[in-house]
Amino acid sequence: NTADFKILLLENVNKTGVDLLEGVNYQVTSLKSSLPEDELIEKIRDVQVIGIRSKTKLTERVLKAAKNLIVIGCFCIGTNQVDLKYAAERGIAVFNSPFSNSRSVAELVIGEIIALARQLGDRSNELHRGTWNKVSNGCWEIRGKTLGIIGYGHIGSQLSVLAEAFGMTVIYYDTVNLMALGTAKQVPTLEELFKAADFVTCHVPELPETTGMIGREELSQMKRGSYLINASRGHVVDIPALINAMRSGQIAGAALDVYPSEPGGNGDYFSNDLNPWAEDLRRLKNIILTPHIGGSTEEAQSAIGIEVAQALIRYINDGATLGAVNMPEVSLRSLTIDEPNHVRVIYIHRNVPGVLKTVNEILGDHNVDKQMTDSRGDVAYLMADISDVSNTVIKDLYQRLEGLNSRIMTRVLF
Ligand code: NAD
Repeated sequence: NTADFKILLLENVNKTGVDLLEGVNYQVTSLKSSLPEDELIEKIRDVQVIGIRSKTKLTERVLKAAKNLIVIGCFCIGTNQVDLKYAAERGIAVFNSPFSNSRSVAELVIGEIIALARQLGDRSNELHRGTWNKVSNGCWEIRGKTLGIIGYGHIGSQLSVLAEAFGMTVIYYDTVNLMALGTAKQVPTLEELFKAADFVTCHVPELPETTGMIGREELSQMKRGSYLINASRGHVVDIPALINAMRSGQIAGAALDVYPSEPGGNGDYFSNDLNPWAEDLRRLKNIILTPHIGGSTEEAQSAIGIEVAQALIRYINDGATLGAVNMPEVSLRSLTIDEPNHVRVIYIHRNVPGVLKTVNEILGDHNVDKQMTDSRGDVAYLMADISDVSNTVIKDLYQRLEGLNSRIMTRVLF
């Protein structure tokens, strides 16, 4: 009975998420901080669901103790803090919220485009130090300028709309052919984008192909006096090459929100110990350096709370894995609990030959309304809706599935 489910939320999960989960009558405990590993192991034994942010490490050791756990909600973007493979092998689904902060990043970039064009960072720093320095040389309006977006996904496409509203011409490069928004135009090569753009901004994922994607060669293809923005991932831009390009005047300004190595916490020093060029970077003119805050807004936090809580509720109540980061994505229409004698069987199993035949032998004696199955690596997920079954049959179905060698986890929802 999912109403008896115990949910442990750590690290001050946003109120939007806590409210949604409490609204379903689960037994929710919400703590402000993360827990030391031994205490976490004690607490996780008992719960079916855990919600964390980035500080709680759900290692194999911790998950081994989590005997009742069926699902993990990461109320953040990243999932590196969870041993995803081990969780999948145990049938524990993991959800996160990859796109709730797209708008926040796009707005930051728009702000940076104007700030770079007007050298706002430098003027503000000068006046903070007491120096009045009224300059118009090398300062521009952004209206009529061309923005080149690399990666036209959730963030890139939002940015495209905002930039056009400011009167910019938008071109974009993406490895996939994508429908342009407004009057933006996709260009076939990066070189073409570099040749035309006054501002280049990167919004690609971290992949082997995007590592060092903007290096010496690419910077030299950009227009002289153009600007570069990177709020995607730290390895996308070769920073020593950017430092050289800015010193020579090839690049007139840059904004970086992400770095190859980032300090562990607030107050830490951004020095050469961490990235050997850090001091050189900090000395450049017209460069905005921000501490990975692209997605850090109140709105993004509350959207994350809602998105992850909804994914958890869907998984707990309906077994739907849409958006799971470590499981195949399987979903059937929402479970109609008011239909009498109707059950949903979920069988998470090792992806080995012959399983479906055995499972269907067990289910085959009953009226299977709908069934869906999919696999991801070594783990497969089967969901079947069965009607006209009595309580005794439900018990029997459950026990027979639990007895199979391929079994990772069986759930019967009714
Ligand atoms: P997305 O997956 O929606 O879009 C990425 C786009 O890049 C896709 O359209 C994809 O086809 C394209 N792409 C992939 N490889 C490419 C390549 N080699 N060349 C050109 N295009 C390529 O991702 P998103 O949500 O828009 O996020 C983009 C980036 O921003 C990610 O790296 C993400 O981690 C980062 N991000 C940073 C912050 C921050 O705080 N600074 C916040 C959120 C996201």
